[in-house]
Amino acid sequence: MKSFFRGVRRHIGKLDAAHLREQYELIAEEAASLDKVLDTIDRGIVVIDRAGAVTRANRAARELLGADPADALPGLRLPLDTASRRELSISYPEKRFLELQTIPFEHGTIVYLRDVTAERQRAEEEVRAGATNAVSDLAAGVAHEIGNPLNAIALSLQLLKRDPTDTETIDVCMAQVKRLDGILRDFLSALRPRRPNLMPGSVAEPLKRCLATLRQQFEDRRITVTLDIPAALPNVALDAAQMEQVFFNILKNAIEAMRDGGAINIDVSADDRDVTVAFRDSGIGMDTEQLAHLFEPYRTSKEKGTGLGLMVSKRIVTDHGGTIAAESHLGEGTTFTVTLPRLERRIRELK
Ligand code: ADP
Ligand code: MG
Repeated sequence: MKSFFRGVRRHIGKLDAAHLREQYELIAEEAASLDKVLDTIDRGIVVIDRAGAVTRANRAARELLGADPADALPGLRLPLDTASRRELSISYPEKRFLELQTIPFEHGTIVYLRDVTAERQRAEEEVRAGATNAVSDLAAGVAHEIGNPLNAIALSLQLLKRDPTDTETIDVCMAQVKRLDGILRDFLSALRPRRPNLMPGSVAEPLKRCLATLRQQFEDRRITVTLDIPAALPNVALDAAQMEQVFFNILKNAIEAMRDGGAINIDVSADDRDVTVAFRDSGIGMDTEQLAHLFEPYRTSKEKGTGLGLMVSKRIVTDHGGTIAAESHLGEGTTFTVTLPRLERRIRELK
């Protein structure tokens, strides 16, 4: 091909009109046959010249884009002067995922397109299969966890049958029922994540409600709680019920980390970006190994723990656009910090 063009170029001055026409037709034929070859390839190929105009596009490119590449490509803002690779989802003519690759060369840029829908679907199915496994793991976990309290209740009921006035055994029963309730609460929230229903509000409200729920437990365990909260607190986007669950999980862990009374300090503060709630306890603390795996499911140091509370808490806080962090010193105590973006910032960033 190259020698043909070189020959034409060398003799072009000497060629008359008839010969020129003949050579032109040969070149046109050659170009058409190149287009035909490109059309047999199932990968999309588009050639863009240095001015950014589409000079060549094969059939696969037109089909993958569902439009004339000259119309469709400018909107994609592909980087024409660097090699790049990216994925794109298109909804017309049908929902598909495309991989686009740009390769600059001396006369412009070649764009390769590939349909990766099938690969994507496979990946999504794997995620779904993983989720199914997690559900059956959880179900097995529930079955295992509820066995002990149920046995304890059955035993207590037999004792009560003999002596219905035995209030101590009634208390045992009630404690076990409470434990079952806690287990179910943990597992259900892990199993059925619900998108938060975000409304403007203050963290003070769920926090105070949570403290009221736990007041009796603080008293029973001789734990003093201090709450430091500014009078004027900026709003955050909040699902109050879910945030109450987060605070509950953190405080419950703090209670469980204390052997013989202690203190919990809750410090609420705000700056121009975030509202922060810090829970500091004087409990047993954690070592670096525990800290490294914190927030992972089933990580528990407790005989009766589920290891789900913090995983669920983290998911809820993340769904709120916030972060949750922990800092701990073995034997001294632990601080959990929940940071939520201020409402105005969130609105600004979503725009
Ligand atoms: P669970 O309470 O059922 O064990 P969590 O997810 O709530 O599950 O907590 C996971 C683990 O993190 C706990 O078992 C405990 O080892 C550790 N942990 C959490 N909070 C504290 C805390 N305030 N002090 C010490 N350890 C903690
Ligand atoms: Mg817990």
